[in-house]
Amino acid sequence: MNAKEQLYHKWVSSNLIHDEKLLNAFMKIKREHFIDAEYLDHCYADKPLPIGMQQTISQPTTVMIMLQLLELNKEDKLLEIGTGSGYNVAIAASIVKKAYSVERITQLVHLSRANLKLATIDNVEVIDSDGKKGYLPASPYSKIIVTAAAEEIPAVLLDQLSANGILVSPVGLPGNCTMVKIYKDCYQQIHKTTHGFFSFVPLR
Ligand code: SAH
Repeated sequence: MNAKEQLYHKWVSSNLIHDEKLLNAFMKIKREHFIDAEYLDHCYADKPLPIGMQQTISQPTTVMIMLQLLELNKEDKLLEIGTGSGYNVAIAASIVKKAYSVERITQLVHLSRANLKLATIDNVEVIDSDGKKGYLPASPYSKIIVTAAAEEIPAVLLDQLSANGILVSPVGLPGNCTMVKIYKDCYQQIHKTTHGFFSFVPLR
């Protein structure tokens, strides 16, 4: 078994990840396209890796836990805050209809666009902007994911979430944040659940 298959089997045998569409997307997308050549030997080590500009590509298990909480399907229009390498949104985009991803560091906007092209993903728009404002032009979104730790979920993101939509975000201090899942019901009421502790770079 290679390192990628080992990860897959770890998730399936522990039942940590059971969303089949997501497991298939993980096998389909090559993380190799989203990391720097110098880290290729660690491509499927279950850890974050540097992507430049003091940012990181998230640990594979964290990516999968967050995307599973989003309950992705092919009708979804997704908004991601924090494109980074583009890996997380690449996996999501291979399931959903269309994804928008906002990144505030211009170098990473260019990097992620190049990575997504390498991976032949053509349903993602990367936007060079501050994700704390969301992305109004394409709103509302049926799913929103924030991949950096916010002290509080920006209220505009909740406004840009459609009824029956799901938002997933790490909330708290970067080194110690809680994974929060928000469900907005058909009456626009917010329901919040928490899903363990994680470490993330900060939302700035
Ligand atoms: N999802 C990424 C990893 C994210 S690391 C991947 O799959 O590789 C978090 C990213 O959030 C970093 O690239 C950082 O620059 C970005 N970020 C932080 N604050 C932001 C903000 N206010 N708006 C947009 N992006 C932000």
